[in-house]
Amino acid sequence: MITIPDQELNNVVSHLGQRSFSTYEFILALKNLYPATWNALEAEYGAGGSGAGKAYSAYSRVAHALNKEANAGLIAKLDYRKSPAGWGSPVIRYWASGHAEQEFPNELPDPDSVTEGAKQTVTVNRYERNATARLKCIDEWGVACVVCGFDFERMYGDRGAGFIHVHHLKPLSEIGKTYQLDPIKDLRPVCPNCHAMLHKTVPAISIEALKEQLRSQPDT
Ligand SMILES: [Zn+2]
Ligand SMILES: [Zn+2]
Repeated sequence: MITIPDQELNNVVSHLGQRSFSTYEFILALKNLYPATWNALEAEYGAGGSGAGKAYSAYSRVAHALNKEANAGLIAKLDYRKSPAGWGSPVIRYWASGHAEQEFPNELPDPDSVTEGAKQTVTVNRYERNATARLKCIDEWGVACVVCGFDFERMYGDRGAGFIHVHHLKPLSEIGKTYQLDPIKDLRPVCPNCHAMLHKTVPAISIEALKEQLRSQPDT
C-alpha cells in the first residue's frame, strides 16, 4: 500500500503556511514538492475521475492521510466549503495547520512582575493560545467573530483564511487546579478588536454584554 511519508506530509503542511487549506490545495503542493509520491499514488489508485469522493482514488488516499494527521492533533479538520471549479463534488474539506497559533496583541510581560489582575490575564491567555484547543473551537464555532461577525477571509481573501483569535469564557474564579479546558464549551472565536474590548477590564466582560454595547451604538 502506497502512503505519503510522514516527513513529506509535514513538509507540505509547513509549505502551505499558517492557514487553512483544502484537500485540493494540499494535493497541488504535494504534486509540486514531491511529484514522485503523487505519481505513485495516482498510478496505484487512479485520480478518481472528476475529483473527490471516489473510493480508493489517489484523492481519497490524500484525504485519509490528512484525516490521520487531524486525529493525531497535528492539523485541524475544518468544515466543508465550496469546492474549486472542476472539482467533482460541490464541496471540499478544509484543514488548518496545527501551528496556526496566534499571538495575543497585548501580550503581557513576565507574570512575576505584574499585578494580580494582570497575572490572571496571563493564565487566561495560556488557554487562548493553546493551538489544538483553538482549532477545536474554530471547528465548532467557525472563524467569524461571534461578537461583530467579522470574517477575515471575506475581508482579506486567502491571506485572512483561518485567522481569528479565541476567547476563554470561564471566569478565573471558577477555575480550580483540576480544571480541564473544554475547547467547545469554554472558547469562542472573536476578532482582535472585539477581543481587546472584552479584555479592556479585569475581569473581562461577557460576549453578550459586548454585543449589547455594539447594538446600542448609533451608526457612524
Ligand atoms: Zn469582532
Ligand atoms: Zn480573551
